[in-house]
Amino acid sequence: MIQKTPVMRLCISCRNTYDRKNLLKITKDHNQGILFQSGMGRSAYICKSKKCFSDSKIKKKLQKALKTFLEPEFIEIFKKEIASFDDYPNKGI
Ligand SMILES: [Zn+2]
Repeated sequence: MIQKTPVMRLCISCRNTYDRKNLLKITKDHNQGILFQSGMGRSAYICKSKKCFSDSKIKKKLQKALKTFLEPEFIEIFKKEIASFDDYPNKGI
């Protein structure tokens, strides 16, 4: 049996490391721009906690992490993406 080692990634908001599954991945894709959970390129991770999703500086932190400028519309798309994570496992943190 192969033991699965969880892939740990750093949340750019709270700076804690979590299992990759419990994080939202935001990627600056070379061809398609900003993508969630897919894409090739520079990526940043946010843990699935309300605290981090509602971080008022999250856009700034993402811009820094992805080394890119995020359009004002980004935050709307981001919020929709968060809404789809209603059943996230870290709820309540
Ligand atoms: Zn976090």
